[in-house]
This record gives sequence, C-alpha cells and structure tokens, in this order.
Amino acid sequence: TSFAHFNFDEQLMHQIRKSEYTQPTPIQCQGLPIALSGRDMIGIAKTGSGKTAAFIWPMLVHIMDQKELDAGDGPIAIIVCPTRELCQQIHAECKRFGKAYSLRSVAVYGGGSMWEQAKALQEGAEIVVCTPGRLIDHVKKKATSLQRVSYLVFDEADRMFDMGFEYQVRSIASHVRPDRQTLLFSATFRKKIERLARDILVDPIRVVQ
Ligand code: AMP
Repeated sequence: TSFAHFNFDEQLMHQIRKSEYTQPTPIQCQGLPIALSGRDMIGIAKTGSGKTAAFIWPMLVHIMDQKELDAGDGPIAIIVCPTRELCQQIHAECKRFGKAYSLRSVAVYGGGSMWEQAKALQEGAEIVVCTPGRLIDHVKKKATSLQRVSYLVFDEADRMFDMGFEYQVRSIASHVRPDRQTLLFSATFRKKIERLARDILVDPIRVVQ
C-alpha cells in the first residue's frame, strides 16, 4: 500500500512527503480506511507503530469537512492521553500535519499553567490534545466547550486506566455528542478496556497492530 491509496488531498500529501515517510505502517494500512470512512475504531497498538498518524490524518480530513457545516467555536477534535509528554508529542504532530490547512492545536495537561492554557483555548483551536483531568477542569471553568466536538480519540487507554483516570475518561465521553466518531487506542485489550469500548464506541471495528 502507498499513501496515494488513501486519497488525501494535495495539501496533506505535501506534509506527508515532507515527513519523509516512505510507506504507511501496518496500523496505518489497516486503520486509515476505517477511520476515514467515519466508523468507530479500536486500535490495539504500541508506541512506535505509527498509531498517532493513523488517528491524526483522518482527524484533519474530518475537521475540514466539519468546519464547513459548523462555523461555531470550540474544538472539533479532542485527543485524550495519559501524560504530559505524550500530550506534547501528539500536539507537535497535530501542528506539523495541521499546517496543511492552517488548523490550530492546543495542548492542555496537568502540571502546566491553568491560566496560560485557558488563554490558548480561548484564542481558539480546532484541536485540543489533553490529559483527562485537566480537560475537565477547563470545561468546568468554561475555558472551552465540548459542544462542537465530533471526533474523539482516547490514546493509551490502558495506561489511563492504570493511572486511575477511568472516571474522567468516561465523563469526557459522556459529555461529547453521541453522533461523534470515536477512536480508542490501547496497547492491551483487557476486560476493562473491552467494557469501556462497549460503553463508549458504536459498532467499532477492531484493528490489531
Ligand atoms: P507513534 O507510534 O505514532 O508514536 O509513531 C512512532 C514514530 O514513527 C514517530 O516518530 C512517527 O513520526 C513515525 N512514523 C509514523 N508514521 C510513519 C510512517 N508511515 N513511516 C515512517 N515513520 C512513521
């Protein structure tokens, strides 16, 4: 499979070419067609598999479609992950590929300045990359709203559960409109993750790295 297979437009292909990736990874080959079709997806994949791009590229396509339909404000896509480091990493990828369409990404995580993050949220961004507790804090303080969110990603779900974020993860899912697209990534697929998937995804397709 080559990148041409996914029908990305020229702007995004340009950014992908700049990244010097020669071909899609297995999780990208399997996951991209599903995510691009709008279906919910469970990705069993570890760091290093290329999973981040597997949810970012379809996210960009989704945002560009959605922006035309809903000119409101607040993020269109939310990516929830366990740690500050991962947040910053994913945010960097969002900026790198989001450049294709001048999309804005904001990272909000525990340990960072509430005030600075709130300011960035209020300046506006189509993409928010966050840790679960901190996103909820900002929503409570009305620094942002989940009203326009229609693409929701949970990355490293098993790690979030290990860190005690199950309640926050479920709370975020319950506050995003039900007709959203949801993608759940996890390195393992244990009972608790299976239960979460059953509760927050609709008719998902499962992809294993
Ligand atoms: P991830 O599993 O998303 O953390 O990605 C691991 C690394 O692989 C990151 O440094 C990516 O920039 C890189 N990467 C993602 N997709 C590809 C690809 N198709 N070809 C080569 N490298 C990639």
